[in-house]
Amino acid sequence: RGVVWLSFLTSLLALLTLSYLSASGALPYAPLMKPPTDITSQLFWTGSGWLFAFPHIAIIVLVADQTLNWWRQREDTIRIMSRTDALTGIHNRRSIIELLEKETARTHRHGPPLCTVLIDLDHFKHINDRWGHPTGDRVLTATAAVLRNTIRQCDAVGRYGGEEFMLVLPDTDLVGAEALVERCRVHLAEMNITSDSGEPIPVSGSFGLICNQLHLAASVSMLVKEADDALYRAKTAGRNRVISYNLTAPVRTD
Ligand code: GH3
Ligand code: MG
Ligand code: MG
Repeated sequence: RGVVWLSFLTSLLALLTLSYLSASGALPYAPLMKPPTDITSQLFWTGSGWLFAFPHIAIIVLVADQTLNWWRQREDTIRIMSRTDALTGIHNRRSIIELLEKETARTHRHGPPLCTVLIDLDHFKHINDRWGHPTGDRVLTATAAVLRNTIRQCDAVGRYGGEEFMLVLPDTDLVGAEALVERCRVHLAEMNITSDSGEPIPVSGSFGLICNQLHLAASVSMLVKEADDALYRAKTAGRNRVISYNLTAPVRTD
């Protein structure tokens, strides 16, 4: 803003000075507008016009181009930030749900099937209470890294809530997803993470896995609700396990 105002006021001052000088006869008035009388002055005035106009145009183009570049970069940064979880660097809740919506729309009616997984770290409050919040944060970051490194390129992982994560597994049936999610569970339980004093921190997670292969028209909210239900069952069954099932279409009564 400061630069714009400074440029504007400088230009205004230059314009006023030039106007005054030509009004008082110190400068010839609009020499470019007078029809040139001979070829030498024609060339002189055309050349002068180019000489003054070219840097002006070049500067305007360069400044506009640079400004647009900065603007585009800032937009990109903001877009990435609005989709990324600040602590773990994976998708945030909004972004992973958007992905799930997109994949669910793709699967509607004709498939391919899709699996959704909700993960909740076990006794995470105890980790915070015993080793402190920053260590808890480290566990969350390490969990995100383990999940990201275990899933395939086409899958997605997001932070669904505090210590809850979501996986979206496109083009996957229940059997394939069970193998993948079991690998995630094992990698998480085998994760080597220690407190600041070197004590090993036990980490495990409970997993609720839902596949839509028997009900391709299932909505996002149904998938999330059923995955949450499966997760709850994994917790009550003793934690550190995967509970999985195929979502079935509601039986028609008419
Ligand atoms: P359960 O096995 O039943 O899931 O037990 P839990 O202790 O994991 O569950 P609970 O919901 O009681 O505790 C979750 C804890 O996660 C409580 C909250 O303070 C903590 N938490 C949530 N978000 C963050 C975060 O960003 N960083 C840290 N360090 N802790 C968090
Ligand atoms: Mg929880
Ligand atoms: Mg928990």
